[in-house]
Amino acid sequence: MCEGMSSWTLTHQSALLLFIHFIPICQAFLPNFWSRVLTLSWDSYTHQYMTEQALLNITMETLSRIMEPQHDVDNEELYTGLGRGFWHAVGEVASANAAMDFLSSTCSDPVYHFDSERVEGATQMLREFWGQTILLTQAKEYQGARRTLGQLFHSLQDFYSHSNWVEMGQQSVYLHLLHPEEPPVPVASVDTPTCADCYRFSCYSNLLEEMISKTEPLLTTGYFSTYPIKPPASLPQ
Ligand SMILES: [Zn+2]
Repeated sequence: MCEGMSSWTLTHQSALLLFIHFIPICQAFLPNFWSRVLTLSWDSYTHQYMTEQALLNITMETLSRIMEPQHDVDNEELYTGLGRGFWHAVGEVASANAAMDFLSSTCSDPVYHFDSERVEGATQMLREFWGQTILLTQAKEYQGARRTLGQLFHSLQDFYSHSNWVEMGQQSVYLHLLHPEEPPVPVASVDTPTCADCYRFSCYSNLLEEMISKTEPLLTTGYFSTYPIKPPASLPQ
C-alpha cells in the first residue's frame, strides 16, 4: 500500500514537474484555475476569474437597471435566475480568452499580449477584436461574438498586467485603447532603456528608477520568452 502510494505520488510529481517545465513562457500570466494550481501561484488572478467577474458584474448591473422601475430588486433572486445558458455563454468567453495563451497561432505573438514594446500593434489588434465583436453581434452570430470578446478581454487584461500603467501612477482605465479620440500617453520605443535584465522565473520590480520618477513617464511593456528578444540597447548601459 505504502509502496503503491509512493509510486503514485512520484509518478504524479514527475508529471507535474514535466508539465511545469514545459509550460511555454507565454503562459506566465495565468490563463485559468489549473495553471494557478500547477505553478503554485495561489494569490494570482487568472484571465478566467477576471472574465467571469466582469461578465457577471455587468450583467447584474444591467438587469438591476432594467428591473428597477418595476419593483424592488432582489440581487440574490437575479443571480439565481441567471441560469445555465448564461453560465455556458460565460464559459465560452472565458475559454476563448484562455486559449490565447495556448494556441500556437497566438501564444507567442506579442501583439496579442501587450509584450515586447508592441503597444501600437497590440492596440490595433484590440480595436479589431472590438470591431469584430460588434459586427458579429449585429449579425446575430453570437458564438463568434463570444469568441472575439474573449480574445479582446485577454489582450485588455494583459495590457494592465504586462505594462507599467500602474507604476506610471495611473488611477483609471486607459481610454485611448478602445477610443482613438482620447489622448494617448507617450510610449517607450524598442531602444529606450526601461528595465534591468532579469534571470528569475517571474520578473518583478526591475523597472529602471528613471522610468518611475520621470515627470512624464513612458508607457513600456515586459518581454516574455526569447522571441522577440529584448534588444541590448533597451537595457541600462
Ligand atoms: Zn497573454
